Amino acid sequence: MADRRRIVLTASEAVPFSKTGGLADVIGALAKSLDQMGHDVVMIIPDYYVQRQRNRNLPKISDTGLRFSIDMNGRQMPASVNWTTLPGSDVRVFLIRQPEYFDRPQLYQENGHGYVDNCARYCFFSRAVLEVCRQMVLRPDVIHCNDWQTGLIPALLNTQYARVPGFERTSSIMTIHNMAYQGRFWHFDMPLTGMDWRYFNYHHMEAWGDMNLLKTGISFADQVTTVSPTYAKEICTADGGYGLEGVLRHRRDDLIGILNGIDDDVWNPEKDSFLPTCYSLDSIDHGKPQCKAFLQQRMGLPTRSDVPLFGMVSRMTDQKGFDLITEAAERLLSRDLQIAFLGTGDPYYESQITGLAQRFPSKVAVQIGFDESLAHQIEGGSDAFLMPSRFEPCGLNQMYSLRYGTVPVVRNVGGLADSVMDFDLNPHSLNTANGFVFADYNRDALAGTVERALDTFARPQVWKQLVRNGMSRDWSWNRSAEEYVRVYESAIANIDSRDEDGRR
Ligand code: ADP
Repeated sequence: MADRRRIVLTASEAVPFSKTGGLADVIGALAKSLDQMGHDVVMIIPDYYVQRQRNRNLPKISDTGLRFSIDMNGRQMPASVNWTTLPGSDVRVFLIRQPEYFDRPQLYQENGHGYVDNCARYCFFSRAVLEVCRQMVLRPDVIHCNDWQTGLIPALLNTQYARVPGFERTSSIMTIHNMAYQGRFWHFDMPLTGMDWRYFNYHHMEAWGDMNLLKTGISFADQVTTVSPTYAKEICTADGGYGLEGVLRHRRDDLIGILNGIDDDVWNPEKDSFLPTCYSLDSIDHGKPQCKAFLQQRMGLPTRSDVPLFGMVSRMTDQKGFDLITEAAERLLSRDLQIAFLGTGDPYYESQITGLAQRFPSKVAVQIGFDESLAHQIEGGSDAFLMPSRFEPCGLNQMYSLRYGTVPVVRNVGGLADSVMDFDLNPHSLNTANGFVFADYNRDALAGTVERALDTFARPQVWKQLVRNGMSRDWSWNRSAEEYVRVYESAIANIDSRDEDGRR
């Protein structure tokens, strides 16, 4: 192994402690992989007490005894720090407890509205992360930050903490999981960051008149990564950059796309305890029909083995293509197929999909809500999986689908483009194809591609080859974790190249 590094991995959510989406999966799995590679990994996340109390499978969490407070614009906010170990690893997890900020029914929002003090909550968290590093004398080689909630950390690290003992050789990595969420707040929130007002400018923390915490992270981090090679290109364009394409182009030499992996301990049909029957590539002919019948029963759909069953597990937002699905529904549902939805999010899409299930009860079933067991059962029991995303930084569900022998039908964007190869009727494509891909974001493109999938489903030998191609590739984290380590090493090697303002 190369040098053993002390890596602090920090984010606003991480499996198994808290989760609203793929970010949590990534943090939990990456920490474990880095640990298995022999690195010394410390995870720092907020302590969401309400979510923690709901989850009975967590390891024992203890008080470290560490206490400090952060000056939030004149108000001293106390923090205490709990700790535990990430199950199945030696990763130490520090959970920053601040009841007023983090003991809430949800992580970021309720009823479609973000918490009004999100800026204060995550500025506090970011500042507390550095205090934990300092007071626990962690002396990290790398602090790996994820998304806007931790975007302030590289800025503080390169300014206030630059000469603090223990941080002299600490580099920072900023990983972007989704450009659509930037942590944009009005400039009067600057005092919450603890940064000097002089950093409220185009080169550092300001974008389009607002304070922007994702931009802050991008400007100050030693290296910037995002979660797929295609998304790394997309975010440098006006379409994908959401206003930050300029700063990303400026950092282009330090920007790299690393496709996420999947956690083989959690998403593995050979040992998935949520499935009625586990299966591998060798036993899929026996296992999948049982999982399919189980899913149909659970969702209240007719139990038929011959009908192609499509699954979808998703946040119900504009990003995920629900508008295309509702627009294409009449055409799609004129065919003999079933669709099982699991999701929650925008009340408009929730009611659209619920309406479809009421109108077509033998073809469409939906469960509104967040349900880990059903998510696994949809992956295991469906024949195909829908992801017609408008944009998709990486996407995990298509990789879970490939692992579970569930053929993905996806749009050609971001990580979907990097993981799903289209079966296009060309005989050679059968050697590599593992799904169905369309390009244009419109209902006919989606419907036509679902119809291609239906026609292929009627040719079992061909379908089976697509399943085999998907299941036989290694989707685990090992490859991605190695790429992250290369990024850490290059950040460590370049630590002396910051400008006098701490900016790279
Ligand atoms: P994103 O991070 O944009 O939400 P990803 O595909 O990267 O999308 O990851 C989504 C993760 O969240 C997957 O693990 C998926 O199974 C899970 N998920 C999303 N919605 C639900 C839900 N309603 N119930 C259970 N799991 C869900």
